[in-house]
Amino acid sequence: MHRRDFLRYMAALGLVAGVGRHLGLPEEVWAAPPGAGPAISADEALKVLQDGNARYLEGKPLHPHQGRDIRALTAAQGQHPLAALLSCSDSRVPAELVFDQGIGDLFVVRVAGNVAATDEIGSLEYAVEHLSTPLVVVMGHSQCGAVNAVLENANFRGSLPALLAPIRPAVARAREENPGVTGDALLAAAIKDNVWEAMKDILQRSNLIKGAVKAGSTKLVGAYYELDTGKVEWLGPDPGLEKLLGGAGRGGAKTRAREEKKPDKQEE
Ligand SMILES: [Zn+2]
Repeated sequence: MHRRDFLRYMAALGLVAGVGRHLGLPEEVWAAPPGAGPAISADEALKVLQDGNARYLEGKPLHPHQGRDIRALTAAQGQHPLAALLSCSDSRVPAELVFDQGIGDLFVVRVAGNVAATDEIGSLEYAVEHLSTPLVVVMGHSQCGAVNAVLENANFRGSLPALLAPIRPAVARAREENPGVTGDALLAAAIKDNVWEAMKDILQRSNLIKGAVKAGSTKLVGAYYELDTGKVEWLGPDPGLEKLLGGAGRGGAKTRAREEKKPDKQEE
C-alpha cells in the first residue's frame, strides 16, 4: 500500500490526525507503511520512552494507543514498534505501563533475569531485521529474584540452571568489583552487571544486531528499573562498545564496568 493510500486508510478509520502528536511522537511512526524502514530515530525513540516513564512516575499516564482504532490499524497494516525491549518476566515490571505505551509501540521480550540466550537474541533480531526497530533496550530491575537467586547460590531445579547460567558471569564480576559490599548494594551492582552481560552477549552472538549497531541503524542501550519509585535509570550504550563492535572478544563489558566503577584502581 502506498503511503498516500495508507494515510487515506487511517482517515477512513477515523483516526484523529496525529495520534501521537500529543505524546511527542512523530506522526510518521504511525504513517509509515510496512517495510518502509525506521520512521523514527533511536534518539527520538529513546525520548518517547523517557517521556512515557516521566508520565508514569508522575501518576499522569495517557495510556496511549489502546483503543479499537489502533488495534484495527496495526492488525491491518502491521507493526512498527519504536523500540525492542529485553526485560525480566517479573510481574512488577510491566513494560507498556512503565513507559506509558500501547499497542504496536514496543516489541517486548520478557524472560526471567533478562538474559540474552538464543531465543531472546533471535526475537530481538526479528525486531531489528524485519521491523527495522531503531532502538533495543536491555532493562534490569531492582530486587530481581533471578539475579538474587544466583547471588545466593540457590539450589535450582528443572530448567532453571540452564536459564540462569548467563547470569553467573555478571554475579561473579559484581562480587569481584565490589569487595566488602553485601546485601541490596551488591544485588543492585550484580543486576546492572547483568544488563551489561546481556548487551555483550547480544553483540557477540548476533552478527545481525552487531551489524545494525555498527551501521548506526539501531542503538543498543541499557536501563535499570526501580521497583519502588517506578523510575527508569538509563545506563546508555556500553562504553566498551567500539571494542565489542570491533570483535575484541569477551571482556569488553567487563573492562568497561571496572573502569567505570573503580577509576582509581590500578591493578587489573
Ligand atoms: Zn527479575
